[in-house]
Amino acid sequence: MTYDPPEDAQARRALAPVICYPNNTLPQVDIDLYRSARSGAVKTDEVLVPARDARCFTVPQGHFFRISSVEGPQVGDLNLWNANDLSERFYSGKTRALHGTHLTTGERMWSSFPSLRPMATIIDDTLDWYGMDAFGGSVHDVIGTRCDPYTGNLLSGSQYHHCCHSNLTRALGNHLGVATDQAEPHVHDVLNVFMCTGFTRDTGQYFMKASPVRPGDHLDFFAEIDLLGGLSACPGGDCSSEHSSDTAACFPLLVEIFEPPAEALDGWKAPNLNQYDRTHGL
Ligand SMILES: [Zn+2]
Repeated sequence: MTYDPPEDAQARRALAPVICYPNNTLPQVDIDLYRSARSGAVKTDEVLVPARDARCFTVPQGHFFRISSVEGPQVGDLNLWNANDLSERFYSGKTRALHGTHLTTGERMWSSFPSLRPMATIIDDTLDWYGMDAFGGSVHDVIGTRCDPYTGNLLSGSQYHHCCHSNLTRALGNHLGVATDQAEPHVHDVLNVFMCTGFTRDTGQYFMKASPVRPGDHLDFFAEIDLLGGLSACPGGDCSSEHSSDTAACFPLLVEIFEPPAEALDGWKAPNLNQYDRTHGL
């Protein structure tokens, strides 16, 4: 059944929204310091993530990493873990609450409870010009989850093995030298790198559209802690039509690691663990 609206329905709808977490309450980001350190950094490693597959990479605290589009438009699903403790991992939902639906320069990937600290800070985004389009779409979202074989099976009975969830599971298992059933529980909701998504204004449904990314575009991060990363080149390619199949055109993604010169980070302070006392009222 549908209820009749109350007499003051319009007045209730007309109330102005209140931003839950105003930007000025977050710890400030010294973007100039990061960029200055990045400008003198030298490349120490690179990993090419094959299409419809994933790879892991490590980034020491205080170093940088870049994710680049190469060969053709492609989106990536990014997982981050504390390299020294996999139980601390990227918290997509809280990052969304703090920064909004899509991330760009100066915003951060936050870690799970009880740490709740910045894991990585975005210092450069060549797609920052895109903004928010007329459909409510933008790039680099923290609203999607990651494409996975369970949802495909639920909706169509399929058995597809190259969704980002499975790609990340295989990559992490290989990196750790453990079986997939041990690796899988560590895989979590992602930063959808280069993906263009939003919610439809009329029905609130999650949508995707062809990514505006082109070869040469990149997203640069600063590692606030020692990081283990996992990146999947999504089987959706540029996500213009579908994922969870091998029909979309897919391309590799490049991850590069950079080390800044000594002294370049003078003035930077490593993030503290969250200071809540964890007694939970007892
Ligand atoms: Zn995917």
